[in-house]
Amino acid sequence: MQGHGSISREGSSSISSSSVDAPTPRCHCGVTSPIRTAWRSNYPGRRFYGCSGYGTSRKCSFFQWYDPEPPAHYSDVIRRLLETNECIRSENTELKKTRQELLDELRHLQQSVHETRAELEVAIAASMDMEDNMVASVATTRRRGVVIIVLISVIVFVDLIALALCF
Ligand SMILES: [Zn+2]
Repeated sequence: MQGHGSISREGSSSISSSSVDAPTPRCHCGVTSPIRTAWRSNYPGRRFYGCSGYGTSRKCSFFQWYDPEPPAHYSDVIRRLLETNECIRSENTELKKTRQELLDELRHLQQSVHETRAELEVAIAASMDMEDNMVASVATTRRRGVVIIVLISVIVFVDLIALALCF
């Protein structure tokens, strides 16, 4: 019963403060007032008539609610939603920043991989040249070794023959 009374009281006060059915008012400047939405008031989202020169050098304090006064609970809910929205927005900004940083890092890593690959290719080509040279060098050394062994064998053989002829 008490709840119903308070609801009907709010309802009637809403209607009395409402200007929905009234003709569009003119502000102190004599200009038709546009409907704006109040976000930083106790009733976030509640619309009002204000001066069309609001925010300019025109000093006109005209103000008249357009929407009826909403129940306090609605304003609380809207305020909480606005706060949540603000949190999500700042998280989104943070995520975009992190994404950009990661993309920059990825680009640096790709550049680094590219450079390292080029250096490795040069090093591999150089080591293959070196290997070819070593193989050729080993073959030459082996040939010289064979020649020296043959020469020693010949000298030893000649010495043996000379020794045999002496006796
Ligand atoms: Zn005005």
